[in-house]
Amino acid sequence: MLNALRAAVVTVLLMLNALVGRLGAQVNSDWTEPFPPFRIAGNLYYVGSKGLANYLITTPRGHILINSDLESSVPLIRASVEKLGFKFSDIRILLISHAHWDHDGGSAAIKKITGAKYMVMDADVPVVESGGKTDFQYGNVPASLYPPTRVNRVLHDGDEVKLGGATLVARLTPGHTKGCTTWTMKVKDAGKIYDVVIVGSPNVNPGYKLVDNSAYPKIASDYERTFRVLKSLPVDIFLGAHGSYFDMETKYARQQDGAATPFIDPAGYNKYVADREQAFRTELAAQKAATADTSVTAIFKDTGSTRVFSAEAQRFKLPEQRQSLRALLKKERGLWQAGKPRDYRFLLRVGCFCPGTRGWLLIEVRSGQPLRAWDKAGKSAALTDWNTFSIDGLYDNLEQSVDRNGQVQIAFDPRWHFPRYVGTVTLPGPDAWSNTEVRGFRPIQ
Ligand SMILES: [Zn+2]
Repeated sequence: MLNALRAAVVTVLLMLNALVGRLGAQVNSDWTEPFPPFRIAGNLYYVGSKGLANYLITTPRGHILINSDLESSVPLIRASVEKLGFKFSDIRILLISHAHWDHDGGSAAIKKITGAKYMVMDADVPVVESGGKTDFQYGNVPASLYPPTRVNRVLHDGDEVKLGGATLVARLTPGHTKGCTTWTMKVKDAGKIYDVVIVGSPNVNPGYKLVDNSAYPKIASDYERTFRVLKSLPVDIFLGAHGSYFDMETKYARQQDGAATPFIDPAGYNKYVADREQAFRTELAAQKAATADTSVTAIFKDTGSTRVFSAEAQRFKLPEQRQSLRALLKKERGLWQAGKPRDYRFLLRVGCFCPGTRGWLLIEVRSGQPLRAWDKAGKSAALTDWNTFSIDGLYDNLEQSVDRNGQVQIAFDPRWHFPRYVGTVTLPGPDAWSNTEVRGFRPIQ
Protein backbone atom coordinates (compact mmCIF):
# COMPACT_ATOMS: atom_id res chain seq x y z
CA MET A 1 0.00 0.00 0.00
CA LEU A 2 2.76 2.36 1.04
CA ASN A 3 4.80 1.25 -1.97
CA ALA A 4 1.88 1.84 -4.31
CA LEU A 5 1.40 5.31 -2.83
CA ARG A 6 5.10 6.06 -3.20
CA ALA A 7 5.01 4.90 -6.82
CA ALA A 8 2.04 7.16 -7.47
CA VAL A 9 3.81 10.13 -5.94
CA VAL A 10 6.91 9.41 -8.02
CA THR A 11 4.78 9.18 -11.16
CA VAL A 12 3.13 12.52 -10.44
CA LEU A 13 6.52 14.10 -9.76
CA LEU A 14 7.89 12.73 -13.04
CA MET A 15 4.87 14.11 -14.91
CA LEU A 16 5.35 17.48 -13.24
CA ASN A 17 9.01 17.42 -14.23
CA ALA A 18 8.11 16.66 -17.83
CA LEU A 19 5.54 19.43 -17.80
CA VAL A 20 7.96 21.96 -16.33
CA GLY A 21 10.55 20.81 -18.87
CA ARG A 22 8.10 21.54 -21.67
CA LEU A 23 7.10 24.90 -20.28
CA GLY A 24 10.76 25.69 -19.74
CA ALA A 25 11.39 25.40 -23.48
CA GLN A 26 11.90 28.60 -25.27
CA VAL A 27 8.61 29.11 -27.06
CA ASN A 28 7.88 32.71 -27.88
CA SER A 29 4.18 33.47 -27.93
CA ASP A 30 4.34 34.81 -31.49
CA TRP A 31 5.75 31.47 -32.68
CA THR A 32 2.32 29.89 -32.27
CA GLU A 33 0.25 32.95 -33.22
CA PRO A 34 -1.46 32.51 -36.60
CA PHE A 35 -0.63 34.93 -39.41
CA PRO A 36 -2.53 35.40 -42.68
CA PRO A 37 -0.78 33.52 -45.52
CA PHE A 38 0.16 35.70 -48.50
CA ARG A 39 2.00 35.77 -51.79
CA ILE A 40 5.47 37.34 -51.54
CA ALA A 41 6.28 37.32 -55.27
CA GLY A 42 5.71 34.98 -58.21
CA ASN A 43 5.22 31.42 -56.97
CA LEU A 44 6.68 32.17 -53.52
CA TYR A 45 4.27 32.34 -50.57
CA TYR A 46 4.47 32.97 -46.84
CA VAL A 47 2.67 30.24 -44.86
CA GLY A 48 4.23 30.70 -41.42
CA SER A 49 3.02 31.97 -38.05
CA LYS A 50 3.70 35.46 -36.78
CA GLY A 51 7.11 34.45 -35.42
CA LEU A 52 8.15 31.35 -37.37
CA ALA A 53 8.63 31.70 -41.12
CA ASN A 54 7.53 29.05 -43.60
CA TYR A 55 7.75 29.42 -47.36
CA LEU A 56 5.78 27.58 -49.99
CA ILE A 57 7.16 27.42 -53.52
CA THR A 58 4.45 26.18 -55.81
CA THR A 59 5.03 24.37 -59.12
CA PRO A 60 2.90 22.39 -61.57
CA ARG A 61 4.59 19.22 -60.26
CA GLY A 62 3.90 19.79 -56.58
CA HIS A 63 5.27 22.14 -53.97
CA ILE A 64 8.35 22.80 -51.87
CA LEU A 65 7.92 23.76 -48.21
CA ILE A 66 10.70 25.41 -46.22
CA ASN A 67 10.57 24.70 -42.44
CA SER A 68 8.21 22.56 -40.39
CA ASP A 69 8.39 24.62 -37.16
CA LEU A 70 7.33 23.16 -33.81
CA GLU A 71 5.60 19.79 -33.57
CA SER A 72 2.43 21.72 -32.69
CA SER A 73 2.72 24.07 -35.70
CA VAL A 74 1.79 21.57 -38.41
CA PRO A 75 -2.01 22.20 -38.39
CA LEU A 76 -1.31 25.95 -38.59
CA ILE A 77 0.98 25.56 -41.63
CA ARG A 78 -1.53 23.22 -43.24
CA ALA A 79 -4.37 25.71 -42.75
CA SER A 80 -2.25 28.48 -44.31
CA VAL A 81 -1.39 26.37 -47.37
CA GLU A 82 -5.05 25.45 -47.85
CA LYS A 83 -6.25 29.02 -47.34
CA LEU A 84 -4.13 29.97 -50.36
CA GLY A 85 -5.94 27.30 -52.38
CA PHE A 86 -3.15 24.72 -52.47
CA LYS A 87 -3.23 21.12 -51.29
CA PHE A 88 -1.03 20.25 -48.33
CA SER A 89 -0.66 16.74 -49.75
CA ASP A 90 0.93 18.25 -52.90
CA ILE A 91 4.06 19.13 -50.92
CA ARG A 92 6.76 16.97 -52.51
CA ILE A 93 9.90 18.37 -50.88
CA LEU A 94 10.49 19.54 -47.31
CA LEU A 95 13.51 21.75 -46.55
CA ILE A 96 14.66 23.54 -43.39
CA SER A 97 16.59 26.67 -42.45
CA HIS A 98 18.48 24.84 -39.73
CA ALA A 99 18.17 21.92 -37.32
CA HIS A 100 16.52 23.65 -34.36
CA TRP A 101 13.17 22.54 -32.92
CA ASP A 102 11.44 25.75 -33.97
CA HIS A 103 12.22 25.02 -37.64
CA ASP A 104 12.34 21.21 -37.88
CA GLY A 105 10.20 19.89 -34.99
CA GLY A 106 7.18 19.25 -37.23
CA SER A 107 9.14 17.49 -39.99
CA ALA A 108 8.20 13.93 -38.99
CA ALA A 109 4.50 14.84 -38.99
CA ILE A 110 4.68 16.67 -42.34
CA LYS A 111 6.54 13.76 -43.95
CA LYS A 112 3.88 11.40 -42.65
CA ILE A 113 0.98 13.48 -43.97
CA THR A 114 2.46 14.44 -47.36
CA GLY A 115 5.07 11.79 -48.12
CA ALA A 116 7.44 14.64 -48.99
CA LYS A 117 11.14 13.97 -49.50
CA TYR A 118 13.12 15.53 -46.65
CA MET A 119 16.33 17.21 -47.84
CA VAL A 120 18.80 18.50 -45.25
CA MET A 121 22.30 19.99 -45.29
CA ASP A 122 24.96 17.36 -44.47
CA ALA A 123 26.12 18.74 -41.10
CA ASP A 124 22.54 19.10 -39.82
CA VAL A 125 21.54 15.54 -40.81
CA PRO A 126 22.74 13.79 -37.59
CA VAL A 127 20.86 16.37 -35.50
CA VAL A 128 17.63 15.97 -37.47
CA GLU A 129 17.89 12.17 -37.43
CA SER A 130 18.55 12.09 -33.67
CA GLY A 131 15.61 14.39 -32.94
CA GLY A 132 17.93 17.12 -31.69
CA LYS A 133 19.99 14.91 -29.34
CA THR A 134 23.29 15.52 -31.15
CA ASP A 135 22.91 19.30 -31.28
CA PHE A 136 26.12 20.85 -29.94
CA GLN A 137 24.27 23.28 -27.68
CA TYR A 138 20.80 21.94 -26.93
CA GLY A 139 21.32 18.15 -27.16
CA ASN A 140 20.77 17.72 -23.41
CA VAL A 141 17.82 20.09 -23.15
CA PRO A 142 14.72 17.83 -23.14
CA ALA A 143 12.39 20.60 -24.27
CA SER A 144 14.41 21.19 -27.43
CA LEU A 145 14.04 17.60 -28.65
CA TYR A 146 11.51 16.40 -31.23
CA PRO A 147 10.67 13.22 -33.14
CA PRO A 148 13.77 11.93 -34.98
CA THR A 149 13.18 12.25 -38.71
CA ARG A 150 14.88 10.31 -41.49
CA VAL A 151 16.48 12.40 -44.21
CA ASN A 152 15.89 11.31 -47.82
CA ARG A 153 18.57 13.42 -49.48
CA VAL A 154 21.74 14.76 -47.91
CA LEU A 155 22.57 18.19 -49.29
CA HIS A 156 26.00 19.77 -49.67
CA ASP A 157 26.93 23.41 -50.04
CA GLY A 158 25.81 24.67 -53.43
CA ASP A 159 23.46 21.77 -54.17
CA GLU A 160 20.35 22.52 -56.18
CA VAL A 161 16.86 21.36 -55.29
CA LYS A 162 14.67 21.26 -58.40
CA LEU A 163 10.96 20.68 -58.86
CA GLY A 164 8.58 21.62 -61.68
CA GLY A 165 10.77 24.43 -63.04
CA ALA A 166 11.73 25.86 -59.62
CA THR A 167 15.35 25.72 -58.51
CA LEU A 168 16.55 26.43 -54.98
CA VAL A 169 20.24 26.56 -54.07
CA ALA A 170 21.39 25.41 -50.62
CA ARG A 171 24.12 27.67 -49.26
CA LEU A 172 25.93 26.43 -46.17
CA THR A 173 25.95 29.28 -43.61
CA PRO A 174 27.12 27.47 -40.46
CA GLY A 175 27.69 28.59 -36.89
CA HIS A 176 24.13 28.88 -35.57
CA THR A 177 23.95 25.15 -36.37
CA LYS A 178 26.64 23.16 -38.11
CA GLY A 179 24.51 22.75 -41.24
CA CYS A 180 22.56 26.02 -41.13
CA THR A 181 21.29 26.69 -44.64
CA THR A 182 20.53 29.89 -46.47
CA TRP A 183 18.26 29.25 -49.44
CA THR A 184 18.51 31.26 -52.63
CA MET A 185 16.24 31.18 -55.66
CA LYS A 186 14.97 33.32 -58.48
CA VAL A 187 11.32 34.30 -58.77
CA LYS A 188 9.56 35.80 -61.74
CA ASP A 189 7.02 38.45 -60.85
CA ALA A 190 5.21 40.73 -63.32
CA GLY A 191 7.78 39.91 -66.00
CA LYS A 192 10.83 40.61 -63.85
CA ILE A 193 13.28 38.15 -62.30
CA TYR A 194 14.26 38.69 -58.66
CA ASP A 195 17.02 37.17 -56.54
CA VAL A 196 15.57 35.80 -53.30
CA VAL A 197 17.66 35.11 -50.17
CA ILE A 198 16.11 33.23 -47.23
CA VAL A 199 18.64 33.66 -44.41
CA GLY A 200 19.17 30.49 -42.30
CA SER A 201 20.32 32.38 -39.18
CA PRO A 202 23.45 34.41 -38.50
CA ASN A 203 22.64 34.71 -34.80
CA VAL A 204 24.85 33.79 -31.84
CA ASN A 205 22.37 32.42 -29.31
CA PRO A 206 22.70 33.18 -25.59
CA GLY A 207 25.13 30.67 -24.08
CA TYR A 208 26.92 29.85 -27.36
CA LYS A 209 30.63 29.30 -26.73
CA LEU A 210 32.67 30.82 -29.53
CA VAL A 211 36.03 30.09 -27.89
CA ASP A 212 37.34 26.63 -26.91
CA ASN A 213 34.05 24.93 -27.78
CA SER A 214 34.93 21.24 -27.69
CA ALA A 215 31.48 20.29 -29.05
CA TYR A 216 31.99 22.61 -32.03
CA PRO A 217 35.67 23.56 -32.30
CA LYS A 218 35.37 25.59 -35.51
CA ILE A 219 32.25 27.52 -34.56
CA ALA A 220 33.91 30.95 -34.79
CA SER A 221 35.46 30.34 -38.21
CA ASP A 222 32.12 28.91 -39.37
CA TYR A 223 30.39 32.18 -38.43
CA GLU A 224 33.14 34.04 -40.31
CA ARG A 225 32.35 31.93 -43.35
CA THR A 226 28.64 32.65 -42.96
CA PHE A 227 29.17 36.40 -43.05
CA ARG A 228 31.45 36.06 -46.10
CA VAL A 229 28.76 34.03 -47.89
CA LEU A 230 25.87 36.31 -46.89
CA LYS A 231 27.77 39.39 -48.07
CA SER A 232 28.51 37.73 -51.42
CA LEU A 233 24.93 36.86 -52.37
CA PRO A 234 22.99 38.87 -54.92
CA VAL A 235 19.73 39.91 -53.30
CA ASP A 236 16.51 41.64 -54.21
CA ILE A 237 13.98 39.94 -51.96
CA PHE A 238 15.16 39.59 -48.36
CA LEU A 239 13.60 36.80 -46.25
CA GLY A 240 14.68 34.61 -43.31
CA ALA A 241 13.86 31.85 -40.85
CA HIS A 242 12.03 34.29 -38.59
CA GLY A 243 9.89 37.19 -39.80
CA SER A 244 11.74 39.45 -37.37
CA TYR A 245 14.93 39.18 -39.48
CA PHE A 246 13.34 41.20 -42.28
CA ASP A 247 10.55 43.05 -40.47
CA MET A 248 7.89 40.86 -42.02
CA GLU A 249 4.91 42.44 -40.26
CA THR A 250 5.70 45.99 -41.42
CA LYS A 251 6.32 44.87 -44.99
CA TYR A 252 3.14 42.78 -45.00
CA ALA A 253 1.16 45.81 -43.79
CA ARG A 254 2.64 47.91 -46.59
CA GLN A 255 1.72 45.24 -49.11
CA GLN A 256 -1.85 45.25 -47.75
CA ASP A 257 -1.86 49.03 -48.27
CA GLY A 258 -1.08 48.51 -51.93
CA ALA A 259 2.72 48.66 -52.11
CA ALA A 260 3.72 46.41 -55.01
CA THR A 261 7.08 45.07 -53.85
CA PRO A 262 7.76 45.75 -50.14
CA PHE A 263 9.86 42.60 -49.80
CA ILE A 264 12.42 43.90 -52.31
CA ASP A 265 14.89 45.31 -49.82
CA PRO A 266 18.60 44.89 -50.62
CA ALA A 267 19.48 47.83 -48.36
CA GLY A 268 17.62 46.24 -45.44
CA TYR A 269 19.44 42.96 -46.14
CA ASN A 270 22.88 44.61 -46.12
CA LYS A 271 22.04 46.46 -42.92
CA TYR A 272 20.79 43.28 -41.24
CA VAL A 273 23.89 41.26 -42.20
CA ALA A 274 26.23 44.07 -41.08
CA ASP A 275 24.38 44.37 -37.78
CA ARG A 276 24.53 40.61 -37.12
CA GLU A 277 28.23 40.48 -38.04
CA GLN A 278 28.93 43.29 -35.58
CA ALA A 279 27.02 41.42 -32.87
CA PHE A 280 29.08 38.29 -33.59
CA ARG A 281 32.39 40.18 -33.48
CA THR A 282 31.48 41.92 -30.22
CA GLU A 283 30.54 38.62 -28.58
CA LEU A 284 33.68 36.89 -29.90
CA ALA A 285 35.92 39.65 -28.57
CA ALA A 286 34.21 39.56 -25.16
CA GLN A 287 34.56 35.78 -24.92
CA LYS A 288 38.21 35.87 -25.98
CA ALA A 289 38.98 38.49 -23.34
CA ALA A 290 37.23 36.48 -20.64
CA THR A 291 38.80 33.15 -21.50
CA ALA A 292 41.62 32.03 -19.28
CA ASP A 293 44.24 29.97 -21.09
CA THR A 294 44.51 26.80 -18.98
CA SER A 295 47.74 25.77 -20.73
CA VAL A 296 49.13 29.02 -19.32
CA THR A 297 47.75 28.72 -15.78
CA ALA A 298 49.39 25.28 -15.43
CA ILE A 299 52.81 26.87 -15.97
CA PHE A 300 52.27 29.11 -12.94
CA LYS A 301 52.13 26.15 -10.54
CA ASP A 302 55.85 26.78 -9.96
CA THR A 303 55.24 30.18 -8.41
CA GLY A 304 53.84 29.34 -4.98
CA SER A 305 56.68 31.00 -3.10
CA THR A 306 58.78 34.04 -3.82
CA ARG A 307 62.17 35.02 -2.52
CA VAL A 308 62.98 38.42 -1.14
CA PHE A 309 66.54 37.27 -0.46
CA SER A 310 68.42 34.45 -2.08
CA ALA A 311 71.03 32.51 -0.14
CA GLU A 312 72.76 31.30 -3.31
CA ALA A 313 73.06 34.80 -4.77
CA GLN A 314 76.45 36.49 -5.01
CA ARG A 315 76.55 39.81 -3.21
CA PHE A 316 78.17 42.97 -4.55
CA LYS A 317 78.72 46.29 -2.81
CA LEU A 318 78.79 49.32 -5.06
CA PRO A 319 80.83 51.30 -5.86
CA GLU A 320 83.58 49.10 -4.34
CA GLN A 321 82.84 45.94 -6.34
CA ARG A 322 81.53 47.60 -9.50
CA GLN A 323 84.28 46.20 -11.70
CA SER A 324 83.81 42.58 -10.62
CA LEU A 325 80.00 42.86 -11.01
CA ARG A 326 80.50 44.29 -14.50
CA ALA A 327 82.84 41.43 -15.35
CA LEU A 328 80.37 38.83 -14.06
CA LEU A 329 77.47 40.36 -16.03
CA LYS A 330 79.60 40.46 -19.17
CA LYS A 331 80.63 36.83 -18.81
CA GLU A 332 77.11 35.54 -18.09
CA ARG A 333 75.49 37.64 -20.80
CA GLY A 334 78.04 36.31 -23.30
CA LEU A 335 77.13 32.74 -22.33
CA TRP A 336 73.40 33.62 -22.56
CA GLN A 337 73.85 35.04 -26.05
CA ALA A 338 75.97 32.08 -27.14
CA GLY A 339 72.89 29.90 -26.54
CA LYS A 340 71.07 32.08 -29.09
CA PRO A 341 67.61 31.80 -27.50
CA ARG A 342 65.43 34.15 -29.53
CA ASP A 343 62.03 32.48 -28.99
CA TYR A 344 61.15 31.47 -25.46
CA ARG A 345 58.72 31.73 -22.54
CA PHE A 346 59.50 32.43 -18.94
CA LEU A 347 57.86 33.45 -15.69
CA LEU A 348 58.87 36.86 -14.47
CA ARG A 349 58.16 38.60 -11.20
CA VAL A 350 59.25 42.12 -10.57
CA GLY A 351 58.90 43.02 -6.90
CA CYS A 352 59.72 46.30 -5.30
CA PHE A 353 58.59 48.75 -2.68
CA CYS A 354 56.57 50.62 -5.25
CA PRO A 355 53.05 50.64 -6.65
CA GLY A 356 52.09 48.76 -9.80
CA THR A 357 53.91 45.46 -9.42
CA ARG A 358 51.88 42.73 -11.00
CA GLY A 359 53.16 39.52 -9.48
CA TRP A 360 54.14 36.64 -11.69
CA LEU A 361 53.64 37.09 -15.40
CA LEU A 362 54.30 34.60 -18.16
CA ILE A 363 56.22 36.35 -20.92
CA GLU A 364 56.48 35.07 -24.46
CA VAL A 365 59.45 36.37 -26.42
CA ARG A 366 59.73 36.01 -30.17
CA SER A 367 62.79 37.08 -32.16
CA GLY A 368 64.17 38.57 -28.95
CA GLN A 369 61.14 40.83 -28.35
CA PRO A 370 58.38 40.38 -25.76
CA LEU A 371 55.30 39.46 -27.77
CA ARG A 372 52.65 38.44 -25.25
CA ALA A 373 52.17 38.19 -21.50
CA TRP A 374 49.65 36.43 -19.29
CA ASP A 375 48.84 36.78 -15.62
CA LYS A 376 48.38 33.93 -13.16
CA ALA A 377 44.69 33.61 -14.11
CA GLY A 378 45.71 32.95 -17.72
CA LYS A 379 44.43 36.31 -18.93
CA SER A 380 46.38 38.44 -21.34
CA ALA A 381 48.46 41.14 -19.66
CA ALA A 382 49.56 44.38 -21.29
CA LEU A 383 53.16 44.59 -22.44
CA THR A 384 53.46 48.27 -21.85
CA ASP A 385 55.46 48.74 -18.67
CA TRP A 386 58.44 47.75 -16.57
CA ASN A 387 56.77 44.52 -15.43
CA THR A 388 57.36 42.97 -18.83
CA PHE A 389 60.63 42.52 -20.65
CA SER A 390 62.79 39.90 -22.31
CA ILE A 391 65.91 38.31 -20.78
CA ASP A 392 67.98 40.78 -22.80
CA GLY A 393 65.81 43.57 -21.41
CA LEU A 394 66.59 42.28 -17.93
CA TYR A 395 70.32 42.32 -18.71
CA ASP A 396 69.98 45.89 -20.04
CA ASN A 397 68.31 46.96 -16.77
CA LEU A 398 71.06 45.31 -14.74
CA GLU A 399 73.87 46.95 -16.67
CA GLN A 400 72.28 50.31 -15.93
CA SER A 401 71.91 49.62 -12.23
CA VAL A 402 75.65 48.85 -11.94
CA ASP A 403 76.22 52.59 -12.30
CA ARG A 404 74.27 53.29 -9.11
CA ASN A 405 75.55 52.79 -5.61
CA GLY A 406 74.19 50.27 -3.16
CA GLN A 407 73.96 46.50 -2.99
CA VAL A 408 73.25 43.94 -5.66
CA GLN A 409 72.56 40.26 -5.11
CA ILE A 410 72.52 38.10 -8.16
CA ALA A 411 72.21 34.40 -9.12
CA PHE A 412 72.36 32.94 -12.62
CA ASP A 413 70.73 29.91 -14.21
CA PRO A 414 73.55 27.40 -14.75
CA ARG A 415 72.05 25.99 -17.95
CA TRP A 416 70.87 29.09 -19.88
CA HIS A 417 72.77 31.83 -18.02
CA PHE A 418 69.90 34.24 -17.40
CA PRO A 419 69.71 36.08 -14.05
CA ARG A 420 67.23 33.97 -12.10
CA TYR A 421 67.37 36.16 -9.02
CA VAL A 422 68.30 39.80 -8.73
CA GLY A 423 67.97 41.86 -5.56
CA THR A 424 69.01 45.47 -5.39
CA VAL A 425 69.17 47.91 -2.51
CA THR A 426 70.07 51.40 -3.52
CA LEU A 427 71.82 53.48 -0.88
CA PRO A 428 71.12 55.44 1.15
CA GLY A 429 67.31 55.00 1.55
CA PRO A 430 66.21 51.67 3.06
CA ASP A 431 63.00 51.64 0.96
CA ALA A 432 64.54 51.61 -2.49
CA TRP A 433 64.84 47.88 -2.98
CA SER A 434 63.73 45.61 -5.76
CA ASN A 435 63.89 41.94 -6.51
CA THR A 436 63.33 40.25 -9.79
CA GLU A 437 62.89 36.54 -10.34
CA VAL A 438 62.84 34.42 -13.46
CA ARG A 439 61.53 30.86 -13.43
CA GLY A 440 60.23 28.21 -15.80
CA PHE A 441 62.39 29.28 -18.73
CA ARG A 442 61.49 27.29 -21.84
CA PRO A 443 62.71 27.81 -25.39
CA ILE A 444 59.93 27.62 -28.00
CA GLN A 445 60.80 25.09 -30.67
ZN1 LIG B 1 17.83 28.50 -34.39
